[in-house]
Amino acid sequence: MNYVLNDRESSKIVEFIKNFARKNSLWVLAYGTGCGAIEIPPTMTSRYDAERFSVRGAATPRQADVLLITGYLSVKTLKRVIRSYEQMQDPKYVIGFGSCTINGGMYWDSYNTIKQLDLYLPVDVYINGCMPRPEAVLAGFAKLQELIGKGEANGWKHYKENLEWYRQNQQKLIKNWKMPDYNW
Ligand code: SF4
Repeated sequence: MNYVLNDRESSKIVEFIKNFARKNSLWVLAYGTGCGAIEIPPTMTSRYDAERFSVRGAATPRQADVLLITGYLSVKTLKRVIRSYEQMQDPKYVIGFGSCTINGGMYWDSYNTIKQLDLYLPVDVYINGCMPRPEAVLAGFAKLQELIGKGEANGWKHYKENLEWYRQNQQKLIKNWKMPDYNW
């Protein structure tokens, strides 16, 4: 007897296959905003070899799946980071790397850095530490892959659905806001 899948079952299988492909092919745009960036070369090269886990560098935002923010983020840089994020294609993911992205870290009282990245961009995974070692970075990518596999890395959808809220937060800090509209 043949069993025919209904629409719901078929779309679940298709989504599972898509997520399997997505989590095993992460192209990373590493935006070296802070000192944590120094841990990226050993993570990506032969010592820790992130490519073993399907994580590799991307040359431009348009080719990237993951935006990696490596530490403190100045207000001036925030504008460029937002622009880079908005140029990436869906689905896309954000990793906040280091304590500075979580709560400002040692720059918590600086007049010119942001204190909490997820007020401005949808962070899927935070990696804590100052600075996180490559093992922690790889664990962060593993967490992201787990979320993608379960269909729970949905920050990019949250960004679209709550764009107005993100824009308000972004424009509170960035006074000379002159950017192209977000083009879906
Ligand atoms: S968390 Fe530490 S290592 Fe990372 S950017 Fe902040 S001060 Fe630098």
